[in-house]
Amino acid sequence: MNNFTRSGILFVVSAPSGTGKTTLCSNVRQTPDLVYSVSCTTRPIRKGEKDGTDYYFLPRGEFEKRIKAGDMLEHADVYGHYYGTPKGPILEHLAAGRDVLLDIDVQGARQIRDSQDPSIRAALADIFIMPPDLGELRRRLEGRGTETAAQIDKRIDAANAEMADWKSYRYTILSSSMEEDLIKFRAIIRAERYLSRRLNLSHG
Ligand code: 5GP
Repeated sequence: MNNFTRSGILFVVSAPSGTGKTTLCSNVRQTPDLVYSVSCTTRPIRKGEKDGTDYYFLPRGEFEKRIKAGDMLEHADVYGHYYGTPKGPILEHLAAGRDVLLDIDVQGARQIRDSQDPSIRAALADIFIMPPDLGELRRRLEGRGTETAAQIDKRIDAANAEMADWKSYRYTILSSSMEEDLIKFRAIIRAERYLSRRLNLSHG
């Protein structure tokens, strides 16, 4: 009987904040076939967040120590705070054939695309979620109520800059309803799993 094995896929999702990406990712997180990578950050913990589940919340000094030690697959300064992906667990999951989901900004995605490690580049499937328009994005951010007016302005400016990068991603989803976004996202995940170049044939 023919059988396939494959190494894991590194799904990288970027979207300006307020696009609903976090909700999308937490939805996908509930399915057991993907491992969600928990990032490190130096930003303050928000109400309702849990250390070790949403992020590993680290002091700046500790974060910088980890960058120096080469422990980060990528890292970036987003809105004045460090964010980064711990490298060790990602490499382990991919080698074991487990698919991983990263919710990171455009700077981080660029670093992974430019990775010196060919196995990381081969594992990558990157997806950009495009907000319907900036007015809608502002409404969503205001509705969420977790940022001040000045922080929302900063995020809208950042969104504008981030949207310029969408062509660098293999896939782009124009965000509509959460249900629609999820269907498209799932379709991409499924298709990536059937790419011939990812499969190794074994005869059992
Ligand atoms: P938030 O503070 O709202 O949770 O996230 C702010 C931004 O940081 C989001 O665009 C999110 O995708 C990005 N982000 C979260 N974790 C990482 C990471 O590990 N690396 C990078 N480069 N960006 C991240």
